[in-house]
Amino acid sequence: MSLRFNAISSINNNETSIPASTKITGIFGTNVFTLKTAREFLSDEAYKSLITSIRGGKKIDRNVANQIANGIRAWAESKGVTHYTHWFQPLTGTTAEKHDSFFTLKGDGTAIEEFDGAALIQQEPDASSFPSGGLRATFEARGYTAWDPSSPAFIIEIGQGKTLCIPTIFVSYTGESLDYKAPLLKAIEALNKSAVEVCNFFDKNVTKVTPTLGWEQEYFVIDEALATARPDLVQCGRTVFGASPAKGQQLEDHYFGSIPERVYAFMRDYEQEAYKLGIPLRTRHNEVAPAQFECAPIFEEVNIAVDHNTLLMDVMSRVAKRHKLVVLLHEKPFAGINGSGKHNNWSMATDTGVNLLAPGKTPKTNLMFLTFFVNTIKAVHDYADIMRAAIASAPNDHRLGANEAPPAIISVFVGQYLAKVLSDIETRVSTKFDEQDEAILKLDLHRSIPELMLDNTDRNRTSPFAFTGNKFEFRAVGSSANCAISMTVLNTIMADTLKKFKADVDALIEKGDKKEIAIMQVIQKYIVESKNVLFEGDGYSDEWHKEAERRGLPNLKTTPVALDAMVTDKAKKLFESNGVYSHTELEARHEIELEKYIKKVQIEARIMGDLAINHIIPAAIAYQNELLSNVNGLKAAGLGEAAYKSQLSILKEVSEHIQVIHDKVNLMVEARKVANNIADSREKAISYESIKSTYFDEIRYHVDKLEHLVDDEKWTLPKYREMLFLR
Ligand code: ADP
Ligand code: MG
Repeated sequence: MSLRFNAISSINNNETSIPASTKITGIFGTNVFTLKTAREFLSDEAYKSLITSIRGGKKIDRNVANQIANGIRAWAESKGVTHYTHWFQPLTGTTAEKHDSFFTLKGDGTAIEEFDGAALIQQEPDASSFPSGGLRATFEARGYTAWDPSSPAFIIEIGQGKTLCIPTIFVSYTGESLDYKAPLLKAIEALNKSAVEVCNFFDKNVTKVTPTLGWEQEYFVIDEALATARPDLVQCGRTVFGASPAKGQQLEDHYFGSIPERVYAFMRDYEQEAYKLGIPLRTRHNEVAPAQFECAPIFEEVNIAVDHNTLLMDVMSRVAKRHKLVVLLHEKPFAGINGSGKHNNWSMATDTGVNLLAPGKTPKTNLMFLTFFVNTIKAVHDYADIMRAAIASAPNDHRLGANEAPPAIISVFVGQYLAKVLSDIETRVSTKFDEQDEAILKLDLHRSIPELMLDNTDRNRTSPFAFTGNKFEFRAVGSSANCAISMTVLNTIMADTLKKFKADVDALIEKGDKKEIAIMQVIQKYIVESKNVLFEGDGYSDEWHKEAERRGLPNLKTTPVALDAMVTDKAKKLFESNGVYSHTELEARHEIELEKYIKKVQIEARIMGDLAINHIIPAAIAYQNELLSNVNGLKAAGLGEAAYKSQLSILKEVSEHIQVIHDKVNLMVEARKVANNIADSREKAISYESIKSTYFDEIRYHVDKLEHLVDDEKWTLPKYREMLFLR
């Protein structure tokens, strides 16, 4: 019996235990070294030092580090932990850990448990085994992980094993970042600096601004046995073949529908793990496509939210196994139905408790809101190409512009009401802050905006960057992406724009303008300069593509060219002047992203060839043989052509598809050989992109036709209708 039928017969044969419901507050954060825990396990000196380090990014000295390490170990051991690891997010896109035990031997052979300050602060994983994009050649090969006290330590439980994880950044010995976190922390700091200065125009009490992030994670859930019987799912996370089932998502009956029992058990299980890790999950629901779901937490500081998202992706994948399920985080696991994204809801909060993108209640707070609102639009306008590069990846190319996710054109949706407010300010050409201007600030933005946003929620789903009442939502981020990439870019371009804004306002004040007038004037100037990026209509429509072209907005549909924006002079200046990336780091990252693209497409091409030659064609030939013996038998029985006309026509059709598949697979292999000889990564990636667009859909078309023709019994790969409808 084929793997497929084995898999089908084992569906639902597994008992899945549903964990008992627990009051969430009872378990929330129990596996996290929170400040409350720190208070309990640390000396006064150590606790104070930890707090100043978290708040002000101050270095912790060795002696205090020893005390903190001891406290963390005491806490961890009280929970049955035996090992610790520096936990980091290298450029592979996953998380990395290398476990060491607390156990050690003293010089005289005495066994003890130990975790000292040095081990807390720094470790040296072998940097040469992680992607470095040529940094290795230019710089020293060694790298080290360094403790990031701003993200608390936590305990991961795998089966009965418990490991203490210390969140760290990963840098080379010469200081170049080799991970996603180090540049993110720099971008957060850059934003803090420029945002505080701008806040001080309105409120001198603001001393810190922290960007906030609430991500919405979409994912598919598939039966493990079925997924294992699909080599493409195992190796690429997506199906390269598969005919559309009779019923897909056309009935629109999945979105917000009742959650299938097995998935529900799985959700509750991973949610419990997440709560223990302090991940504040809030929402769960079915998504648009069959077998597609979403979860979202309460928003947090960007740094923590990023850690929580990568941690959760890992937790989900592991917990799924307990339920004999597989989580697919890929952006496009199935053709013909929606793919998965990860909306990044983003805003900025002050240490005085103000959300800078929440409309104000008074003219003064209105002006502060408008300042940050317009600066965001300006930032996205000026750096749209870099925003596009931040979401570029081989899997995300399947979604962007495919009428299910925002197009590859970066635009901003603000809603009718705010669009009107902006155009009112824009058309007021007076250079004086007159009564009319004052009227704008007296608008009841606080009450009007949320109500008006509600009417637009459907339409603005097509926008890659939408204002949703008190935050912007970056919707083009891929489901498998590390949010740190888009968050590093967004916070850096915002930091840069606010810096210019401050300088522009200061210049006008210097010339003698009143502060509010100066601010209004610069806001007006920015609206004029960036209004091209505003778009309220249907982002999926052809008209928008034409309109965007007229406006000169970039529309880069594929990753190899979208990535160019990372290494332009403009990008280098932006990231260097804000202290986020050096130009060598940017070039290295560009190289790594290109390599990732090449490898992913290459693996998919190989899997396609493998499945076509070893699964599809043999099944088709077996069916042909059956048809042939049938025809021959009918002939021998003396029946005329009328009796086997249909069989002959099926035979012919099957034959034609086999020929095309075989030819195209061979041509694709030849094209890969040519591409593999290209030395320049960008050229090579473009060449792989062309292999993908020339052969993938074509081969798939014929394979999917065969799936409809060939005897179901002979088909070896689980079909869409089997995978997508979990009961
Ligand atoms: P919707 O997408 O339907 O508007 P919500 O308003 O609940 O849903 O928000 C979606 C996500 O946005 C949640 O994760 C939420 O925590 C997050 N969010 C809300 N306010 C902010 C904010 N100020 N900064 C960042 N994220 C936020
Ligand atoms: Mg949303």
